[in-house]
Amino acid sequence: MKNSILYLVKLGEISLKGLNRDFFEKRLKMNIKAKLKPYRNSVSKQKGRLYFEISNECPEEQALRAFSTTFGVVGFSKCISCEKDIEVIKRHAALLIQEGPFASGTGTFKSETRRADKQFPLSSYEIDCELGGVVLDAYPTMKVNAKYPEKTIYCEIRDKAYLYTSPLPGPGGLPVSTAGKGMLLLSGGIDSPVAGYRMAQRGLKQECIYFHAAPYTSERALEKVAKLASIIAPYLQGTRLHVVGFTPVQLWIREHSPEDEHTLMFRAAMMKVANAISLMQEGTAIVTGEALSQVASQTLESMTFTDSMSEQLVLRPLVGMDKQEIMDVAKRIGTYETSILPYEDCCVIFSPRHPLVHPNKKSVTHHFELMEIESLLEQAIESSETIDFGPDGRRRE
Ligand code: ATP
Ligand code: MG
Repeated sequence: MKNSILYLVKLGEISLKGLNRDFFEKRLKMNIKAKLKPYRNSVSKQKGRLYFEISNECPEEQALRAFSTTFGVVGFSKCISCEKDIEVIKRHAALLIQEGPFASGTGTFKSETRRADKQFPLSSYEIDCELGGVVLDAYPTMKVNAKYPEKTIYCEIRDKAYLYTSPLPGPGGLPVSTAGKGMLLLSGGIDSPVAGYRMAQRGLKQECIYFHAAPYTSERALEKVAKLASIIAPYLQGTRLHVVGFTPVQLWIREHSPEDEHTLMFRAAMMKVANAISLMQEGTAIVTGEALSQVASQTLESMTFTDSMSEQLVLRPLVGMDKQEIMDVAKRIGTYETSILPYEDCCVIFSPRHPLVHPNKKSVTHHFELMEIESLLEQAIESSETIDFGPDGRRRE
């Protein structure tokens, strides 16, 4: 391909797959390609890695973002391929180290060669020495450190020679849509976007549901959730946010159930609605941001009760994480700053003063049934609205 830039993409867990490796690789290619639109690109495969050739009209930032947000990618790097001739290789290496990690011209490095083509006249060690020489010629203050280098220049001799420098980290995991589909309960908090990210990392495609209680929660609370959906959308390969008006349900629960059980009743109602919408969208699991004992509704007894309200498997990827760990992920993926904006979510406003911490499942289930809330839930589902986000994170009109 003319006027193009080559990127090397390293695959992690996918390379360990057996007979179904093809299935995972195909999906990974599709997922990356979805983010390179509208630019020309082509992919080729070599053991454990993909080579993407992308038109140089594609802004570098877009290409880098495509790799850094696509699960299944463990590392990626700009790469140069050239003729298998040591002089040509050295000329290209000199160009490569003018940008990327070597550009600063300082620190320690090594060169690492893999010689898949055993016909090549120089040994790996000899190639390493030649490339080390290229680096030291360009940056005389750099030092070789074979054991703990700060940066590495790699050379692979295969069908052609490939040169690249220390890969940037990808998000790892498995490509989205290789593990079915689920519904993420997305609130405006810190936890649920991280939960969605975590499940996407295991290949789960997800749509999102937000329960909105206007006018008790402001339009800005909804905007905040939409912002969070747009931030995680690239990781989810695009997503749809279902906005469910929940005020009538909340008010009904407040009138018709014991105060200390309100939160549990809200959660049961959310589960019912999430199940119905998930089923309609051909999802088979529900994802929440709950963590054991974080609040009253997240004790074993409370979660046992909410589980019993769900036909579909409830996935709680954060259940064993502490808040600091969750916050660290939120900061890394860029949701934290939005999550801490102050607009309250509906649960805060309708929270009982003394919520039941260790509910008796039989008794709360009975109270839930007594409320006869089904038709209100159906109305909530029918009047729900959707907002779509592309794999680039942009809202689609
Ligand atoms: P988060 O930080 O994700 O808001 P939280 O610690 O505030 O979680 P809760 O408010 O008890 O905990 O909510 C637990 C989980 O229930 C959330 O992680 C989310 O998955 C779901 N949830 C709570 N409120 C809503 C809502 N208004 N709309 C959609 N999902 C919700
Ligand atoms: Mg919350």
